[in-house]
Amino acid sequence: MIIFKRASEITDYLSRLSEEDTPVGFVPTMGALHEGHLSLLDASRKQNSVTVCSIFINPSQFNNPEDFRLYPVTVEKDIEMLIAHGCDVLFLPPVEEIYPPGYVAPAYDLGAMEHVLEGHYRPGHFQGVCQVVDRLLDIISPDRIYLGQKDFQQCMVIKKLLELTGKNARIQIQIMPTIREADGLAMSSRNLRLNEDERRVAPALFHELSVIRAGLPGNSIEQLEHDAYRNLENNGFSVDYIKVVNANSLAPAQNISEPLVAVAAASIGGIRLIDNLILN
Ligand code: AMP
Repeated sequence: MIIFKRASEITDYLSRLSEEDTPVGFVPTMGALHEGHLSLLDASRKQNSVTVCSIFINPSQFNNPEDFRLYPVTVEKDIEMLIAHGCDVLFLPPVEEIYPPGYVAPAYDLGAMEHVLEGHYRPGHFQGVCQVVDRLLDIISPDRIYLGQKDFQQCMVIKKLLELTGKNARIQIQIMPTIREADGLAMSSRNLRLNEDERRVAPALFHELSVIRAGLPGNSIEQLEHDAYRNLENNGFSVDYIKVVNANSLAPAQNISEPLVAVAAASIGGIRLIDNLILN
């Protein structure tokens, strides 16, 4: 695996490959890698000749400075995992390679999806996501980008980013299923911060989403949302939302014939977890 820290160097290296028509798959991450990340890597390796992974904890997408400060960093272990999984290229840039002096953040017009759900609870978050992904795509110029359904709204935002910038003409988005622990908890780098007690109750988030899915035929959506909210609070979560929304617009569900997804965000011991489940 070749490791690059400088944007110009990885761009030069990959542009030589693209002259030879070598398909490049790209997996952007913030590190503290787990099997969810590795599933994206595996998918990319199957479909491309070269797989590039990036590890960059993007300061501009953290609305909470404490969350940024405490974000897990396990670079040595990450590098070992990437080598063991056959990653070809790792991009590990310092901040100034992504946001060089004079960088002016564009304003991305994401429409309503910017301000609902995660956007509501994390103001500015999706502008930060767009900034980093836009820069990474300029630097790496892949044929395919691999994203996890775990971050459902982020997938929608990045799809919109590609449309806004015209990058959709040459970059395909591949969205891969959420990888879970045996007890249902969605794998996440932030799970490393859970203590034993918090870890024990954390799967309740997925459990409540599953209860909503099972209860959907024949029950009112509002009642299901209300029960799930209350059960999570009773388990010690501080709930931001657990809701059924339209899977294309993220607007509140009107009826069960729409494409629906149940989405949730809740904190346990100050650690904020998100998850979702497609319902139909
Ligand atoms: P992160 O390092 O959390 O920014 O995530 C990097 C990529 O991995 C994003 O596209 C995430 O959606 C994806 N990802 C994170 N957790 C999982 C998971 N449990 N299953 C599948 N993909 C995931």
